[in-house]
Amino acid sequence: MPTKKAVVSGKTAAPKVSARPFAYRNRGLHCDGVSMAALAEEHGTPLYVYSAGQIAQRFRFFDEAFAERAHTICYAVKANSSLAILRMLAKLGAGFDIVSGGELERVRRAHKPALGRVVFSGVGKQVWEIDAALEAGILLFNVESEAEVYLLAERAEALGRVARFALRVNPDVFAETHPYISTGLSEHKFGIDIKAARGIYRRAAKLKWLDAAGVSVHIGSQIRKVDPFAAALARVTSLIAELRRDGHDIRYVDAGGGLGIDYGVDALDEAGAFDAEHQVRKYAAALGKGLAGEGAHLLLEPGRFIVAQAGALLTRVLYVKKNGAKTFVITDAGMNDLIRPALYHAHHEIVPVKEPGAARRGEVDVVGPVCESGDFFARDREMSAVKPGELVALLDAGAYGMSQASNYNTRARAAEVLVDGDEVRLVRRRETMRDLMAQEIL
Ligand SMILES: *Cc1c(COP(=O)(O)O)cnc(C)c1O
Repeated sequence: MPTKKAVVSGKTAAPKVSARPFAYRNRGLHCDGVSMAALAEEHGTPLYVYSAGQIAQRFRFFDEAFAERAHTICYAVKANSSLAILRMLAKLGAGFDIVSGGELERVRRAHKPALGRVVFSGVGKQVWEIDAALEAGILLFNVESEAEVYLLAERAEALGRVARFALRVNPDVFAETHPYISTGLSEHKFGIDIKAARGIYRRAAKLKWLDAAGVSVHIGSQIRKVDPFAAALARVTSLIAELRRDGHDIRYVDAGGGLGIDYGVDALDEAGAFDAEHQVRKYAAALGKGLAGEGAHLLLEPGRFIVAQAGALLTRVLYVKKNGAKTFVITDAGMNDLIRPALYHAHHEIVPVKEPGAARRGEVDVVGPVCESGDFFARDREMSAVKPGELVALLDAGAYGMSQASNYNTRARAAEVLVDGDEVRLVRRRETMRDLMAQEIL
């Protein structure tokens, strides 16, 4: 693996854009200007490491790709809900896509003025969550059932606040991705059958405290081909035309999130690098095609695309053991820290922090300490030999990593650091024994 220059956020003139902010320098893996070994030394492991520069860069790629039309990028909070990252994105002008009252509170604490740029999605909104969002004055409710329309009208009236809403329609478009993260088919729990939408808008128009301001769609996550986005949006666009003819004042079209990244290939091999800027341009062109001439304000809800490749999970090898023909590399991070391999059979590149050079390679399973056979990060993975005590990094762990972490096996959740150029900020401290027991009553 050849030595690479790290990409330092905005501070170098180098036009070269890597897919990831992680690269070898002086024989050790760095995140931008900071040595991963030094981070482990100072903050311990497992540790989530994020590049602020990379997150900002991805956000800008998105923003620039849609520069020609009125748009707001509502970053999907569930991908990575770190307050520090939310604040950073809010200051870059991001809005937010939330799915709970808890996420609403995160936006409030991260950057209160951003509440006016929040869209609220989810099939199971509760009364208290609707009330909190109405009181916060969010931009738009993405309503996922007719019953929710009536509940929203009732709460809006009770609070004396008009609720702007969009129906999240289900366009019945197939997008190739893992079945757990596909959402755009009528067999899924999400959204409202697009054929039923017009009738619901008609009935909703009779309700005084509702403002049918938009139409929304989200077909799933980690979608690599852009055609399904165009197809879904084309259906939404013809619905909008019908709704306008019916007299509804539709001002927003929400295209959802779901643009995928490249988890595969040799992570640090620049030749195979994933070109994020090109990918988002292709995506923007596909949405433009789907929208035809539709000029409504475009809302976008990217999550993974913005944060996934900016993050790595840094972990230390505890043991290397052989069972029969297999070699297991046992790390101090487990499925409670990063559940994606267990939950979605997701692939994460795993690289040693010490640059391997011509080190022996072999096939190993990389596993955590959790008492579940599903607690693995990689199976039969060909990688450079690592020894107990050495560090490895699981790449592309910035999205759906820490936000899905748990305390299973009574394990403390990891700490998180945000690297900005060559500066480091601890943005979440490691949980302690006290934290782990704090809610319990004896
Ligand atoms: C999860 C989700 C997103 C973000 O999906 P990504 O694949 O991370 O871009 C956007 N919108 C809705 C409604 C979601 O549920």
